[in-house]
Amino acid sequence: MEAPIGPLVNCSRCGMTYLARVPDYAALAQDYAWERSTKREDARRERSEPLLYKLDRATRWRLHVLPRVDMSHLVQRHVDRGAVLASVAATADPC
Ligand SMILES: [Zn+2]
Repeated sequence: MEAPIGPLVNCSRCGMTYLARVPDYAALAQDYAWERSTKREDARRERSEPLLYKLDRATRWRLHVLPRVDMSHLVQRHVDRGAVLASVAATADPC
């Protein structure tokens, strides 16, 4: 079965990196909403790694030990300048 998202490709004209195949907006809201996908992922992890999953759930306090770093600081620290990742629904080349 083909994955609903991917692959990453480069635009042949400008070199921008983007996802060649993305779900439509209705599918995003229905199938990929955070409220639904996190429950599915929790269930998958509990089935595949039950001990690790229980340990993770029992030690959630560890997430509050260090201060949170916001996304803009993470991007500035870890992302180099260059092409931007974007999604363009069902097109091979966004140009
Ligand atoms: Zn382009």
